[in-house]
Amino acid sequence: MAAPDYLVCLECETPTYTFEWREGRIVEALCMACGNDDPSAFATEDDLEEMALRDSEREDS
Ligand SMILES: [Zn+2]
Repeated sequence: MAAPDYLVCLECETPTYTFEWREGRIVEALCMACGNDDPSAFATEDDLEEMALRDSEREDS
């Protein structure tokens, strides 16, 4: 999987371009808006789309 253009901070939903990507996963990331630097608290664009799909499914029921 190629590196994404940006990641989105799950704490404040701000996109960040300050991250290190290796072998399909986030190694390091930093959110300039809230200071979050926990790699597990960031998502790729694809991850967010999946989450949005899951959310909309929940709302339908
Ligand atoms: Zn943030």
